[in-house]
Amino acid sequence: MKDELLEIICCPICKGDFQFCAFERIEDEIVTGALVCSKCVQFYPISDGIPNILPEDLRDTDDDILFIKRWKKEFPKEIWELLKENLMKRFKNELPQAVPKVQKMKIFNLSS
Ligand SMILES: [Zn+2]
Repeated sequence: MKDELLEIICCPICKGDFQFCAFERIEDEIVTGALVCSKCVQFYPISDGIPNILPEDLRDTDDDILFIKRWKKEFPKEIWELLKENLMKRFKNELPQAVPKVQKMKIFNLSS
């Protein structure tokens, strides 16, 4: 998707504006990235250049989990901090299983 599209689209739940993170770009197109509503802090993935702005309960949870696992580290810290709580609530036990590996490694590295 092109950056200009951001001015047209808004959160389907609350009509809030999006903040976005671009993980992969080809020229002026975001190929992979995430849209995060600055009002209700919902997350919407951008894959293969296409933003998926369906409300999260209409999306495939497994796809979202894979997406988050794959790109977690690419989120800007301040956006990740906002998102984290919502994602944990939504994915319950599924995301924490994916995340601690990284956290454990970090703790291990710090203490060794
Ligand atoms: Zn919203």
